[in-house]
Amino acid sequence: MRILVCISNVPDTTTKITFNSDNTEFNSSGVQFILNPYDEVALSKAIDLCEGGKGTITVIHVGEASTEPTIRKALAIGADDAVRIDATPSDAYFVAYQIAAYAKDKNFDMILTGRESIDYNGAQVAAMLGEFLDLPSISIIKKLDLNGNKATLSREIEGGKEIVEVEGPFVASCAEGVAEWKIPNMRGIMSARTKPLEVLAAQSLETLSVVEKFETPTPRGAVKMVDAANVSQLVDLLHNEAKVI
Ligand SMILES: Cc1cc2nc3c(=O)[nH]c(=O)nc-3n(C[C@H](O)[C@H](O)[C@H](O)COP(=O)(O)OP(=O)(O)OC[C@H]3O[C@@H](n4cnc5c(N)ncnc54)[C@H](O)[C@@H]3O)c2cc1C
Repeated sequence: MRILVCISNVPDTTTKITFNSDNTEFNSSGVQFILNPYDEVALSKAIDLCEGGKGTITVIHVGEASTEPTIRKALAIGADDAVRIDATPSDAYFVAYQIAAYAKDKNFDMILTGRESIDYNGAQVAAMLGEFLDLPSISIIKKLDLNGNKATLSREIEGGKEIVEVEGPFVASCAEGVAEWKIPNMRGIMSARTKPLEVLAAQSLETLSVVEKFETPTPRGAVKMVDAANVSQLVDLLHNEAKVI
């Protein structure tokens, strides 16, 4: 079995988000980047499925050379080899197109992604991959079991669960719960340095997205404390100031 896991390099969750002076670019200076948490879950699931020599895992990232520590982290967790498509990704379409161009003749049995990246939160790459590769794509899965060539996937839907069965290769985006997180051990960290990391040129592609402007959310107003006995003041504030009743 051969599994391809797509990984993205995202700002650490504690990052203070700022933009350049005309608000058209994310200011990455001093920002600590990490492996997207949902991609760690996808990778952990791939490791479970391949345990005992049942398969191999390739991780793929579309990004610049500066992202290589994140790729090495995925190798330390347990991927066998890695591919970096050398480019500055411009949007999900660009990323999915590059991954599909790489994967189309490699006969992977499944392609796993995270449910979304925690920076742009597009949740688009998996669906686009399915379209580009003409494969079934199942989004936001919480469970994945394999029985021979047949995969049974479970996803949460409004008011219940949906169970999907797929035969043959497929794409799935993984949510929390699909696997226990794997923490790299010293052996993994040491071996990650020598595992193969192939760097490939990107396919040329028209850029479809243009950033006009980024905006941070408006800051929250200060908290007002109301005396528990003063219900009329509370009602007045909710009605006239917060305008929620
Ligand atoms: C307006 C805009 C500007 C951008 N500018 C930059 C930039 O300057 N520099 C930069 O590095 N990136 C930039 N990006 C790219 C961004 O970091 C993402 O790689 C890309 O847009 C996909 O993000 P998403 O939220 O749509 O992915 P989603 O669809 O939410 O991601 C789902 C999954 O797809 C996979 N995936 C996502 N991105 C990648 C990737 N790059 N490689 C491999 N797998 C991936 C992961 O498994 C992820 O969990 C930009 C994106 C946008 C929309």
